[in-house]
Amino acid sequence: RPPLTNMQTRDVEALLHPYTNPATLRAEGPFIVSRAEGLHVFDAEGRRYLEGMSGLWCCGLGFGDAELIETAREQLGRLPYYHLFAGRSHEPAIELAERIKELAPGAARVFYQSSGSEANETQIKLVWYFNNARGKPQKKKIISRAKAYHGVTIVSASLTGLPYNHRDFDLPVDRILHTATPHAWRGAEPGEDERAYAARLARELDALIEREGPDTVAAFIAEPVMGAGGVIVPPEGYFEEISAVLARHDVLLIADEVICGFGRTGQWFGHQTLGFKPNAISMAKQLTAGYAPLSAVAIDAEMAAAVEDNASRIGVFGHGFTYGGHPLGCAVGAKALEIYQRRDIPGHVRRIAPLFQARLRALADHPLVGEARGLGLLGALELAPDKSGRAAFEPAGKVGARMAAELQARGVILRAMGDVIGFCPPMIIDEDGIEELFAPIPDALDATLAWARAEGLM
Ligand code: PLP
Repeated sequence: RPPLTNMQTRDVEALLHPYTNPATLRAEGPFIVSRAEGLHVFDAEGRRYLEGMSGLWCCGLGFGDAELIETAREQLGRLPYYHLFAGRSHEPAIELAERIKELAPGAARVFYQSSGSEANETQIKLVWYFNNARGKPQKKKIISRAKAYHGVTIVSASLTGLPYNHRDFDLPVDRILHTATPHAWRGAEPGEDERAYAARLARELDALIEREGPDTVAAFIAEPVMGAGGVIVPPEGYFEEISAVLARHDVLLIADEVICGFGRTGQWFGHQTLGFKPNAISMAKQLTAGYAPLSAVAIDAEMAAAVEDNASRIGVFGHGFTYGGHPLGCAVGAKALEIYQRRDIPGHVRRIAPLFQARLRALADHPLVGEARGLGLLGALELAPDKSGRAAFEPAGKVGARMAAELQARGVILRAMGDVIGFCPPMIIDEDGIEELFAPIPDALDATLAWARAEGLM
């Protein structure tokens, strides 16, 4: 790379915590993104890249949306800050809650935070508060899944099921349990079809609840399609089977829609595409199209009534954030939802996703690709030494990182999650954008394969 004129690796290392991956920074130098437009971002030297991950799964409307920018400008001029404590509120918070209620089936009340982690943290406190309020104080354990991603605050990180979010942080905390990842390619037995595999996972969940004691288990949390764990689409019938087990044991179901929400899977919410009915929903990321930090939790009428009765009795609901429901986030969020509706973004995703999925699955025959999978405008190429679903690269992550670097050198940004290459393009992507996204991939796969062979990894 040509040297940067003003900002060097040492500046990044000296000033910013190089979190998540210090080794990449040292190996490849800093990648400073200076500006963005539509589907593309531009680095500090003006090179252009197709942003195939919508940033961190959030910029569903791409970059530079004039209406969102004008909304933000206008809101900052009119009311840059106010809070929602002690009966205070403001118009953008109310307007956004109305829009969320209109779109999210069963949503009775909306609570705001700033991040997905805070949303899930809030979910768990609401569940505990709810069970205290309805006289079931012993019902407190939460079940999540291996490879889930629910954030990084203490409880959200505990819900997350990825080893590097636990290791060296003494997590998970107690009361948080994990059950199996629903990934047929890796987890189904030979000859076991998706339905049988889903039924087996439900039996395993049932056994876990029985073992722990149903009167101690409060909730099950799930991303409809797992994101950061590697874009894992559950087997057919999974949520139907799981929901039946949860209902039998009076265990609440929380949908973490932080990635899947607002059209990503072709419906407003991932749980609609996957066919289940949650008691509560977490939203963030595309809630504001990534243009301002905001998250929200929506709970159903039964939870809302119990929480409100109790709060009225004791006079307070002791939870909330200074920036929860920030007017900037709410105004941008309300505008984003209005744009998704006006431009029928879920409909656009339904129309464009078959092309995206076809281009993705056409790569499944490449020797470096173990599995090509996805749903809506979410996708993944899992890189593996073979296609059996049983083998993985050792050490994990090197081949994925190399592939992401090969792609970036060819002008496409995708994310390596270990050896899984994730796809989450802006939802406004059209046919030309999809061609641009996939054009360099075969060549990048060939280059990575040659490198992996030379390194003795394959
Ligand atoms: N839940 C899901 C499904 C996510 O993908 C993420 C972030 O990637 C989070 C929660 C945490 O959100 P945040 O990073 O805003 O705390």
